[in-house]
Formats: sequence, C-alpha cells, structure tokens
Amino acid sequence: MRLLPALTALSLTTLGVAVASPPAHAGGHTAPPKVPTATGYGGAVSTVDADATAIGLDVLRRGGNAVDAAVAAAAAIGVTEPFSAGIGGGGFFVYYDARSRTVSTIDGRETAPAAATEKYFIDPADGLPYDFNEARVSGLSAGVPGTPATWETALKRWGTRSLGAALEPAARLAERGFVVDATFRQQIADIAGAFGQFESTKKLYLPGGQPPAVGSIQRNPDMAATYRLLGKRGAGAFYRGALAEDIVETVQRPPLAAEPVGTWAYPIRPGVLTEADLAAYRLRFPAPTRSDYRGLTLYGMSTPSSGGTAVGEALNIIEAGLPKSATTADKLHYYLESSALAFADRNRYVGAYTEKEVLKKLISDRWAAQRACEISRTTALTKPVPPGDLNGSGCATATTGGKVEEGQSTSNLTVADRWGNVVEYTFTLEATGGNAMVVPGRGFLLNNELTDFNFAPTQGAAPDPNLPGPGKRPRSSMSPTIVLKGGKPFLALGSPGGASIITTVLQVLVNRIDLGMTLPQAMAAPRASQRNSAGIQAEPAFRTTYGPQLTARGHTFGPDVAELGAATAIEFTRGGGFIATAEPVRRGGGAAAVVHPTR
Ligand code: GLU
Repeated sequence: MRLLPALTALSLTTLGVAVASPPAHAGGHTAPPKVPTATGYGGAVSTVDADATAIGLDVLRRGGNAVDAAVAAAAAIGVTEPFSAGIGGGGFFVYYDARSRTVSTIDGRETAPAAATEKYFIDPADGLPYDFNEARVSGLSAGVPGTPATWETALKRWGTRSLGAALEPAARLAERGFVVDATFRQQIADIAGAFGQFESTKKLYLPGGQPPAVGSIQRNPDMAATYRLLGKRGAGAFYRGALAEDIVETVQRPPLAAEPVGTWAYPIRPGVLTEADLAAYRLRFPAPTRSDYRGLTLYGMSTPSSGGTAVGEALNIIEAGLPKSATTADKLHYYLESSALAFADRNRYVGAYTEKEVLKKLISDRWAAQRACEISRTTALTKPVPPGDLNGSGCATATTGGKVEEGQSTSNLTVADRWGNVVEYTFTLEATGGNAMVVPGRGFLLNNELTDFNFAPTQGAAPDPNLPGPGKRPRSSMSPTIVLKGGKPFLALGSPGGASIITTVLQVLVNRIDLGMTLPQAMAAPRASQRNSAGIQAEPAFRTTYGPQLTARGHTFGPDVAELGAATAIEFTRGGGFIATAEPVRRGGGAAAVVHPTR
C-alpha cells in the first residue's frame, strides 16, 4: 500500500524527489520507503507493498528460503492490500527448485460449489445473465478459497518454516495496525456502496460511516486471530470446523447491515456454497506450460489459467513471423497482432477442462506458424480475429470473438533466495474488495472469483470452455512466469490486471528480449493491450509515442486507460546477482529489495 495517487508519484519521481511515506502515527507503524529497483546479492523480493517486501526480506535475512519469504510476504499483502488478495481468495504459485532444477506449480484457484450449473449466473426470473455487479456482490460469486491451502502446502513441500512462523509477522502487522494511505482509502471509497451493506465490512472499513482518513491507523485484530488460528491448527481449520461454518453462513446468509451506509443498486443474493464444498477443496499441481522463445525456456501456469498458453502462443507467433529486419514499430505491431490471435484461441479453446492435447497444440511451433501467416507486416488484422481451426492447416478460420474481460484487482510477488530458488506468485480476490463481505469475526473478505466464468456462451455455435459447472474452476488470466536460460533462472515476472495480465507479462518480455531494454526500463515503459477487440487499450504515453506508426498500419486505439498492471520481476545476472524490480509509478509504485546491495 502506501500509495500516492499515480499522478503525484509521477511528477515527484520525474522531478527526482523521493516520494515521502505517510507520517508516523501514535501506535501505528510507518512502512519503509518504496524503492522500485534494487540490485545486489543474497536474495531478492519484489511486491507491490513496502511492508510485505520488508517482511519477505527479513525472512531471507534470517535464513529462510524463497518459499518461506513468499508466504510471509503474501500474508502481509493480505493485511495491507486486503482488497486485492488474501486468505478469502485464490491464486497460482510457480516455483523453481534450484536443487532439482525443476519448475512446479500449485493451482490454488477458487472452486465452484457442487450445486453450480451452467446457468449459475442466469437470473431465473427472466432467463438473462445477471449484471456483473449484481453477481459480484452476492454469495454466488464466492468460490472455495485456495489461498490458505496454497500457503501451507508450499511451505510443507519446499519451505523450511511452519505456517505459524510464516504468518506471524503479518499477524503482528494486522494487530498493531498500519498507516492508511490515499490508495487504501480510495479503494474503499470506490466500493463503499457495497461495503456499506454488510455489518462486518462496514465496521472494519467504514468507521463512522466513512472510509478511514489518510494517516489514520488501520487495525484488524480479527485477521490477526485468524492467521494465528491457521498457524496453530493448520490450513485444515479453514476448510472444516467453526471457521468453515462462518464462511458458509456468510455466503448463504450475507451479513446485512441493520443500518446500511450508502446504497447498492442490486438485490443481494445468497449463495449455495456448503461446508461439504469447503471440506472437498483440493489443490492441484499441474505441470507448468513450457515453451521456447529465442533460446529461452518459459514456464507458465497451465489451466485453469490461460496465462501460460496465451503468453507462450503469442511469443511463438512473434518468433515465427517477425522479420529479421524488424524495426521497433514492427515489433510492437507483431506484439499486438500475436496477442489478438492468442486471445481468440484462448477464448475459444481454454477453460478448466481443456484437454492436454489442445493445450499442447496451442503452444506448439506448428500452430504458431499457422497463426503467424495471418499477420501482414504492413496492415493490421481487423479485430476481433477469429480463432484458429484446430483441425485446419495454413491460415485457418472459424467464427466469432469473445468477451473482453476487465480485471481490477490482484497482487503479484517475486522472490529469489541465495540458493537459487525462485517463487513467482499471483493471487487475488478477483475484483477490488472481492464480493464485499468480510466474514464476521474473522477479518477477511471473500472473493468474487466465480464471476470469471462466462455467464452465458460467448462462442456462437461452438462450445464455450468457460461456463460455470459443479466443482469447476473459472478460467484465469494470471500469468506467473519463470524464464530459464541454459537451464538456470534468467527472469521471473507476473502482474495483476485481469485479462490484461497476459499482455503485460508478454509486453515486459518483448521489451526486455526484443526491444533491448533493461528490466527496469522494460517494466517502466508505457503499456498497451490488444485482447482481440476493435481498439487497443493503451496508456496515454504509449499512444503518444507509438500511436502514429501503429495507426498508419491500421491499428485502432481506444478506450485509453490510465495504467495497465502492477508487475513485479527479478532478473538473475551472470555473476549470481539479482535485479529486483517493481513498478516505479503504476498503482503508486512497488517495493523491490535485495539482501546485500554489494557482494
Ligand atoms: N480474476 C482475474 C483472473 O484470475 C484476476 C483479476 C485481476 O487481476 O484484476 O484472471
């Protein structure tokens, strides 16, 4: 947290003035200053939050490994960035183990109740899909969270600390409190109409009927107690027993406020999640996606995330199609075209249950060659482009595009340790503030991840791979990615941003690998996202810099967007060092740190 509005941060940084932390406050805790790039040795951490980074770094300093530090930092994010991610949500954990030189993943995605059907988000009253916000702020949108199980299992498999030890620094932070900054306050203000409908959420986040003042202290003793309960009894205490009962109660009988603050335009519908659904939750451990790009090997997240296949497919298309004599404008043109093609294929083919053969095909060089032949060097394709035909050859066609998803929340972190282990972890509640329901007495918000399902078919006559179903996981765009060079870590990165996660990760890779930027430059460069819609969503600086060259080829821009993503990344240098990077400006800037600045 500790964010200033983006514009203020931008002008201050541009002037070369350090961005000041909020003032210290009696009894409160002031976060360390945020640094977007840190280079050095002995281990590195990059997150969006200064407290989380400091907590992760402290674990590394005390001899913990990357997994210990990642879980401790993630738990801190759950405290200071509670609207983006936490134990009420899910995520994807990608881990490179230095000793075995292997990449493993944990799929901690939220899961739909057993009672969910294809028509889960169709209003029985009129047969039409619910509005997004109506579905979001309801018991229906909350899937069984996977985050507590993810943390515990990551520690058991690869860590050296107990869950209790990893959660304790964050529990202390929740208990002692932290200083509210402008972004924390604004995130509450943006969703205050929904927060004000629930007694528990109102009490925690709308003291006196208002979002907390900037500079005030935000405490969450209930969350501290929940973390300590999990620490003592294990993540099983989340999925069975009193805490599980409280979650089910919240979903089935939303804790409506006796005196709501503000208004909410929709009825608040109960959900159908049961204690049996919670007890049945299981993590998955899918093999990572694997693809090659310019001599590097990329490991990404497989289904239910579409991140690994979409990033891999787009890079393969660039590699197959980009002419040797390419200019910067050519490279960006291919970046945008390949991403539109990859999104068309993702929308048509990728969901929780996509067969392995299809995933393999989408990420194959042969498929990339077939898709690359659609691209002209001089003239942009008309969007939306159709998905490719899995049984076709040459420039294939079928029909229809897909919905353009907008995400607003989520957190990403990257950690590396002195032994060479690496964690890339993206976790989320889906929208900022999840389904807006704090579980009473437990201090955490529930997710609205199930709204990542398509509410109604999007693929015309073809089957839609992302409709709801019993026990099904919604398709994600989260793209935690670890890149190896000669079998050793070269780069690890990820970002929030809904479906634009895929393009942010892709663009940072293209910036770094093809446009010759350093990693900090690649992260800071203006972003654009082409997700197979008519207009390119672009940050104003991208449009100003590259707009004329790209519109000359027929690309269309709009609507503009203030910022895309909030990435974190670490690059591994030849001499065993780290370049840890976070956003210099987006979302108020992130916090990178290394254990030793010099060798
Ligand atoms: N729910 C989104 C996904 O899993 C992430 C939301 C966001 O980043 O805003 O793809």
